[in-house]
Amino acid sequence: MKKLIAGNWKMNGDNASNASLLDAILNGLTGLDGCDILVCPPSLYVATVAQRLNGTPIAVGAQDVSIQEKGAFTGENSAGMLRDVGASYVLVGHSERRQYHHETDNLVGEKAQAALAKGVTPIVCIGETLAEREAGETNAVVKRQLAAAVHAVGHCVSEIVVAYEPVWAIGTGKTATPEQAQAVHAVIRAQLAAATPNATRIKILYGGSMNAANAAQLLAQPDIDGGLIGGAALKADDFLTIVRAAQN
Ligand code: PEP
Repeated sequence: MKKLIAGNWKMNGDNASNASLLDAILNGLTGLDGCDILVCPPSLYVATVAQRLNGTPIAVGAQDVSIQEKGAFTGENSAGMLRDVGASYVLVGHSERRQYHHETDNLVGEKAQAALAKGVTPIVCIGETLAEREAGETNAVVKRQLAAAVHAVGHCVSEIVVAYEPVWAIGTGKTATPEQAQAVHAVIRAQLAAATPNATRIKILYGGSMNAANAAQLLAQPDIDGGLIGGAALKADDFLTIVRAAQN
């Protein structure tokens, strides 16, 4: 299975900086076709970024999606709209959405289902807080979050991507060790295997301060099928180094 390297740009960038970041990444991509690559700009820029990347190996995703198809839902973007402007992936349940927008496990599951219904691949983000890890609750939390998504998507479970992102590692510079990450990825894989015979085909990404220096070791773990990268995805050289580390 090809690994997936996904950049979450969060609420960063503008037309000019997006264009130069994409140019620099595209210029450095020659010969690097051994992994899938994705960038997730803020929703306002998804269409422009998708136009720029049309015909290139880089896919485009959004950072959130509504559970509604259309109507009086001010400020929301539906999965059909994301698909219409060129997004083929969408992050659901990123910890920043769970924290700042109070998204529940069930809502995240519904978002995953709404995305799949329109042919957009959901990247379901799960992960424990520092307090939960210290209380020994990591596996229970991750399993609870994943169970809600698996339940919501039903027989389509093999079409999702999962991103394990320990909250304490996001944007903090603290990365899970490869062993810590692999241990949780193995738990996730086992849970997926209980839901589908195709669990080995489901990509499980690691996210949380993955960078040019630590990517290779993380990506070498048997159940780490790629990375969801925040800060380092905004620097072309760092992102390309991670893409290089992900070549099959
Ligand atoms: C993220 O936003 O999903 C993320 C992993 O961020 P960072 O790489 O900056 O920790």
